[in-house]
Amino acid sequence: MQLFDSHTHIHFKAFNDDMETAIRRAQEAGILMVTVGTQIDTSRRAVEVARTHEGVWATVGLHPNHTTEQEFIDENEAVAVAKVKTRTEAFDAEAYRPLALDPKCVGIGECGLDYYRIPEQKIGGAPLPREEIIETQKEMVRRQFELATEVGKPVVIHCRDAYADQAQMIEKAIDKGQLVQRGVMHCFTGTLAEAQRFIELGFLISFSGIVTFSKELAEVAKALPLEKILIETDAPYLAPAPMRGKRNEPAYVLHTAKFLAEFKGVRLEELSETTTQNAKHIFKLI
Ligand SMILES: [Zn+2]
Ligand SMILES: [Zn+2]
Repeated sequence: MQLFDSHTHIHFKAFNDDMETAIRRAQEAGILMVTVGTQIDTSRRAVEVARTHEGVWATVGLHPNHTTEQEFIDENEAVAVAKVKTRTEAFDAEAYRPLALDPKCVGIGECGLDYYRIPEQKIGGAPLPREEIIETQKEMVRRQFELATEVGKPVVIHCRDAYADQAQMIEKAIDKGQLVQRGVMHCFTGTLAEAQRFIELGFLISFSGIVTFSKELAEVAKALPLEKILIETDAPYLAPAPMRGKRNEPAYVLHTAKFLAEFKGVRLEELSETTTQNAKHIFKLI
């Protein structure tokens, strides 16, 4: 049986001590994976890991949480061991283009809109208008949509509390002839109507471990056709039940697959095969 973890961060610092064994555990369980960049350093590292490991592919991009200076520090993420207070970055297509063109790079992102984590003030106390932050996030998304279109690869969208604006941005881009390869709504947590809107725009909906402990989200997944669904870990975050609270890893995607198969009333083999085919198709691995 093959499974596809469509969104993981196996190259993050959280796996500094055991990345090789975590990859091996996944490989032995027949799990393929896409390891996702979140800024320039982690994007470089993602491509490097993909290049040197079979069954691992990468995406490169700038996460919305890295587009504005904020106090939030993610200890799991930084590649370098040296602590950096915040890493604010403007998306520079020149820097990302060579990575985006790498044969083991299968998409651009994660990029998108995150209205959940918006700081109210700059570090030091100066006020930071919400509209300004949102506009910066949108500009970084537009730049990444352009690069995705240029290199002919799909986008991986991170979206939190911003589904209406995100759908509108995607729609606009498609109207302009961009995003021909469409993309993935990663770690989807919206409503059925929101999911259907993205599906109408040609996107796939990816469910993380959250689906194993949110009845509401499980109902959304149940209502969607298997052909439009991907599964992911988003490791090291969001471990699925029964691993909640632990560091997540790609091998745990099996728990999400088992849960979804049972909840949707399909055989595990069917869910695994279809979601793997969906991932291979969107990331052009077949
Ligand atoms: Zn994300
Ligand atoms: Zn992620």
